[in-house]
Amino acid sequence: MKPSALAAVRVLDPPQTVGAIRSVYVHAPFCARRCFYCDFAVKVASADCDAWLRALKAEVRALEREGAFLLDDTLDTLYVGGGTPSLLGAPAMEGLLTVIGEGRLRHSDLEWTAEANPESFTKDVATGWRRAGVNRVSLGIQSFHEPALRWMGRLHGADGARSAVRIGRAAGFSNLSVDLIFGLPDHLERDWERDLDDTLSLDPDHVSLYGLSAEPATPLGRAVAEGRETLPSEGRYEHEYLLAVDRLTEAGYEAYEMSNFARPGFASRHNSVYWSGEPYLGLGNGAHSYRHPVRRWNLRDWDAYRARAEGSGLPVDDEENLDVGQVRLERIWLGLRTRRGVSLQDLPASARDRARCWVENALAVAEGNVVRLTPRGWLVMDRLTVELDANFEE
Ligand code: SF4
Repeated sequence: MKPSALAAVRVLDPPQTVGAIRSVYVHAPFCARRCFYCDFAVKVASADCDAWLRALKAEVRALEREGAFLLDDTLDTLYVGGGTPSLLGAPAMEGLLTVIGEGRLRHSDLEWTAEANPESFTKDVATGWRRAGVNRVSLGIQSFHEPALRWMGRLHGADGARSAVRIGRAAGFSNLSVDLIFGLPDHLERDWERDLDDTLSLDPDHVSLYGLSAEPATPLGRAVAEGRETLPSEGRYEHEYLLAVDRLTEAGYEAYEMSNFARPGFASRHNSVYWSGEPYLGLGNGAHSYRHPVRRWNLRDWDAYRARAEGSGLPVDDEENLDVGQVRLERIWLGLRTRRGVSLQDLPASARDRARCWVENALAVAEGNVVRLTPRGWLVMDRLTVELDANFEE
């Protein structure tokens, strides 16, 4: 289904609470080294596929005993992210069939995505994944500019990225996504326009954009705090984002979410589950699960997660119960970040006035009873979410 064909988000509609879960995220924690900017739940070590599968299996058993986040007999989407799932090698996805249940995954309507980094996405891995049933690959390309790749700490070069796309296509992946990072420091002299051209020349089905941010616990965050590194100006960040939106939409990709662009029919169904407030289960260290009104997350550290799961406990770190105000804020945020937009129907008059003001300032467009942000609006989406929510009485 085209995302723009989905109905706008009704802010006051109750989220889904019944029915078994049909979307699963699995975290693969291993990375060969930590990238300069990375804030993910990563274990820098050789990938241990057997230990990973054992821990996941133990977690699934503990969930079955608990009975709160039960899976349906058939899944709609499975997303294996990381970390670097491709480091786990060819047999890893086959192993997931046993962990999650072959019956849940062996059907033609499943979207099964796995993330890969170019240097470990070999022909063996690609064909092994296809055999297991993976039908969508997300490649962490980030840039084609060699100095930028070295600065980030990536282990591949520009040729590695091109070759990974060829390997994926040769193995039969007809749904291939690439990740790109924008907003790199000025001194790298990275040519963003050229990176976009190089990306388009590979003809991916989907592109995800990430704006570089300096999270405090990362080497980049520390370098910025100590004045050893400087992020680009807000103006250049905005320019690069808007340039990417223009180039990708001109090339036929739909901006179906603020950071995600797809050829018709190639929007990520898994991510759309997150953005529409449907329930999902997260397995693995640091993974989040949601089923209204509960959101919970697993222990972030791989060793702690594994010890708890294999010791027959639920490896959950903590959870929260979302109250009415949190759910409403979240639904506004989810609606504004996607092409679905927010329905004005059940908003107070003052919120509708606010939305009209956005339209006058080219931050949004109004179509009938729906307000959708423009790319300029997406640049200030967090502020606009709070502005709209402030019109509701507690
Ligand atoms: S490859 Fe990805 S997950 Fe691993 S360190 Fe780099 S950014 Fe983080």
